[in-house]
Amino acid sequence: MNKLKNCNGCGKLYMEIGQGMCPDCYRREQEDEQTVYSYVRDHDKCSIKQIVDNTGVKERVVLRMLKQGRFIASGFEITYPCQGCGAPITTGKLCSKCSNDIINQAKRLEAAKAVKKVDKSSTMYNSSRNR
Ligand SMILES: [Zn+2]
Ligand SMILES: [Zn+2]
Repeated sequence: MNKLKNCNGCGKLYMEIGQGMCPDCYRREQEDEQTVYSYVRDHDKCSIKQIVDNTGVKERVVLRMLKQGRFIASGFEITYPCQGCGAPITTGKLCSKCSNDIINQAKRLEAAKAVKKVDKSSTMYNSSRNR
């Protein structure tokens, strides 16, 4: 069943038929995607920022295309900054260095926690006996 919804793009009421935005915005986004594609064809291995700066297409549109795996499917290596250090990456949120860092950090935290737990349980054992 069709229902009225507010468009994610422009806020206008429209009849939702599964495209998530009004027909005007949908058409515009299709055009934007084509713009992005033709830019990416000429600039392989560019960053999202470059695409946004040079095409004027909203970052949201480019990010959605990226999340949908559209660039990788077409063999383009589009990079965006790692959330940890800003190095260009093509998948996930972090570069391999930062994700390794996080794993190591988690291991260290686990180790520290384990040590603390031992401390706590021994002191708790003593004090709870006295209480
Ligand atoms: Zn709209
Ligand atoms: Zn990084």
